[in-house]
Amino acid sequence: MQDQLIQYLTKLVHINSVNPDLSTEGQQEREIAEYVSRHFHQLGIPTQVHTINGDRCNTTAFLKGANPEKILLMNGHLDTVGIEDMTDPFNLRKDGDKLYGRGTYDMLAGCAVQMGLAAYFKDQPCPISLAFTFVADEESLSMGMEHLVEHYLPSLPAKPFLGIFMEPTEESIGISNKGYAWFEIEIEGLAAHGSRPEEGINAIFPLAAALQELEIINQELAQEKPHPYLGHATLHPGLISGGTGQSVIAAMSKLNWERRILPGESQDKLDTELKRVISAIENANGDHTVKARQTFNRPPNEIPKDDLVVKLKKAAGNTNYNGMSYWADSALASQAGIPSILFGPAGHGAHAVDEWVSLASLVNCYESMKRFILDFD
Ligand SMILES: [Zn+2]
Repeated sequence: MQDQLIQYLTKLVHINSVNPDLSTEGQQEREIAEYVSRHFHQLGIPTQVHTINGDRCNTTAFLKGANPEKILLMNGHLDTVGIEDMTDPFNLRKDGDKLYGRGTYDMLAGCAVQMGLAAYFKDQPCPISLAFTFVADEESLSMGMEHLVEHYLPSLPAKPFLGIFMEPTEESIGISNKGYAWFEIEIEGLAAHGSRPEEGINAIFPLAAALQELEIINQELAQEKPHPYLGHATLHPGLISGGTGQSVIAAMSKLNWERRILPGESQDKLDTELKRVISAIENANGDHTVKARQTFNRPPNEIPKDDLVVKLKKAAGNTNYNGMSYWADSALASQAGIPSILFGPAGHGAHAVDEWVSLASLVNCYESMKRFILDFD
């Protein structure tokens, strides 16, 4: 199987699947989705390419097991981040145990594992049903996973009992990950000549109060009891803008910040933090007005260490439990009632120029998944 896994990964890397929202080099996922679907078709496993819009596509395939209603959901995202400053991003290069190329680690290796499992179980009695899923756009707004949750998962003969998302976890069992929320404030003032500030309302000075309050909240978060795998919740200002010229009293300013959310933190808590920032701005000197809102959010994810998870841990050679700081599509499956975890190979350089996945680890992941599935017999 090792050679086959390399072969699948070579082809997956070779097809440009850079997310077009992230880079002008990007290509939509249809070509890679069709390649994956062809693989299942050639194995005689029913498969479908789902068009989300334009050429943004998901692929699914369903292998019916001895117990057709006991379904394991497996998932990988087909898109990758950009290839800026990479010399040969689409040609897989093997250097000892390292397989280099864009997406090898995050997470085309996980997609190759699914393809390998399909090749193995098409001639073997499979004790449970396997829902193979490959989605678009995880690196941006997860339109692929949203489409899958809305259109494909409800069409299955039963709700999957577990979701395994093969993001890179260094072979640990990722039972938790952080969520995030985005906030935006706009401060409105009145423009005036820089020499006559008394005729205007400065919209930039009040940002100082906002930033100070955010820093205080961040320090408070750092004092809270840390999550065993994820540490502390955090926030950071990510974007700041305002004003029209150096000699003009700024009539407008804008600040966007991101809050990373731990499992168990409530929306109320986030709302209270937002109110504190608004008050700080309102209490700052001047007659400015403020508008603020939460613009986007993704939930955190955490699943209990129940028998199933213990079973996977055992199949994976008694590896560690872990939490991933990054958000992943698994949170949307959990939200849809399918407890979902992250489990994938070791490597290096997700979103970096020197991305590689360990071949030995890729094979281990495949073997672990195979053992886990066969153990339902
Ligand atoms: Zn990923």
